[in-house]
Amino acid sequence: MKNYFISGDKSDCFGCEACVQICPEKAVIMKSDEEGFRYPVINKELCVNCGVCEKVCGKQRIVEENIEKKYVFGGHIRDSEVLAESTSGGAFSAIVNSWCKKDYVIFGAETEGLKVKHSYITDKNEIKKFRKSKYSQSIIGTAYTDAKNFLKEGKKVLFSGTPCQISALKSFLGKEYDNLLTIEVICEGVPSPIFIEKYVEFLKKKTGSDVLSVDYRFKKIRKWDFQVMKVDFADGKTRMKDRWFNDFWVIWLNHLMSRPSCYKCPFTTANRVADISLGDLWGVHLYCPELYNRDKGASLVVCNTLKGKEAVKEAENIMDGHELDFETALKYQSPMRKSISFNPDRDNFMKDLVSDMDYIDLCKKWGKHPSIKLLWQKYIWGNRQKMFVWRVRNYIAKKGE
Ligand SMILES: Cc1cc2nc3c(=O)[nH]c(=O)nc-3n(C[C@H](O)[C@H](O)[C@H](O)COP(=O)(O)OP(=O)(O)OC[C@H]3O[C@@H](n4cnc5c(N)ncnc54)[C@H](O)[C@@H]3O)c2cc1C
Ligand code: SF4
Ligand code: SF4
Repeated sequence: MKNYFISGDKSDCFGCEACVQICPEKAVIMKSDEEGFRYPVINKELCVNCGVCEKVCGKQRIVEENIEKKYVFGGHIRDSEVLAESTSGGAFSAIVNSWCKKDYVIFGAETEGLKVKHSYITDKNEIKKFRKSKYSQSIIGTAYTDAKNFLKEGKKVLFSGTPCQISALKSFLGKEYDNLLTIEVICEGVPSPIFIEKYVEFLKKKTGSDVLSVDYRFKKIRKWDFQVMKVDFADGKTRMKDRWFNDFWVIWLNHLMSRPSCYKCPFTTANRVADISLGDLWGVHLYCPELYNRDKGASLVVCNTLKGKEAVKEAENIMDGHELDFETALKYQSPMRKSISFNPDRDNFMKDLVSDMDYIDLCKKWGKHPSIKLLWQKYIWGNRQKMFVWRVRNYIAKKGE
């Protein structure tokens, strides 16, 4: 992957905003392109050709080999309310709770309407706004500069984000800080925000009510692995759709609308940029069924540094789970092995998405109904049913001992 300032190729830009933040002349701004992804634009009148934007961009794509032995944990936070409000097993909240004792600042992604942006909090009781995966690239704003200022003041800084954002923060800082803990989500890309905007517009027209919020991974009814999207309306009504019937998931996970850089992301390797990588414990029913947790959500926690391991070891006091083998976990986590493959239909889909084709026609053309086989596998004989049988067998075996 080349430096975007040299290649000018959009697929070389993660939209991390390090170049915007580092420019002393404020000559670089981010602008959305027609697909809804943001890219830097240099104001030639303000630019003094100092080259720092190019330098920070070049450094930001280097993934160093992790030299410390990885420590991997699988499990979930014990607090059932926090678990229900978290995407996976609530590992993020458990680590925040344990690491942030005094004089700390926490950075994360929050929603503002349909927009996602980075911000910080100085009171961990406000952590709820950072919980839950928002499947849209967050706007960094001044987060890297703010984090640097807090670090220089000696505050403990916990910074969470996608791997490209964590790498950008490190490149922006230019040196290691003992008082910084970085947490990345295991990431397979970000979708164009235009799809969800079209969906919301369609819902508004159909129901006559404004959409207040979109929760991409609502867990309280169908639970964790159904990836239920819940939309809340101003008139108090709600609408929910399981992943298999939701064209957002179908189209995105078919790699039709990801950011160009995500198809050749350098961060999708076993070498990670953050102290801790967090993901869903996919494959749980296959290699550690005791952690399935009745579909309430389970986290995969990969510690890439000693600092990360120490933070997670402390967080384990408020979690249930156990150590896992890294190589086995890796088998079920493709974003830690390779980037998503380019779908040759992507450009045709994107043309339709940005045209005035309405939401229904778009879904008719590009969405997919689940097959009978898939419905059978998910609803009749799915992980939940298999886990139920596993529990009963276990119970009988234990009674017979
Ligand atoms: C865009 C995206 C893609 C992902 N892809 C995968 C995947 O392919 N496989 C996998 O196993 N896990 C993936 N995850 C991670 C997973 O969904 C959970 O975020 C993770 O397991 C943490 O869950 P939790 O229960 O510990 O905490 P939660 O409390 O749910 O933690 C949320 C954390 O995610 C951060 N976050 C939320 N939205 C964004 C955003 N838009 N940009 C940057 N940071 C954000 C918050 O700052 C916080 O640190 C992805 C997450 C995102 C945001
Ligand atoms: S620093 Fe980030 S936003 Fe700027 S050009 Fe490079 S990858 Fe793109
Ligand atoms: S896949 Fe890579 S480039 Fe895309 S958002 Fe995730 S970390 Fe960034």
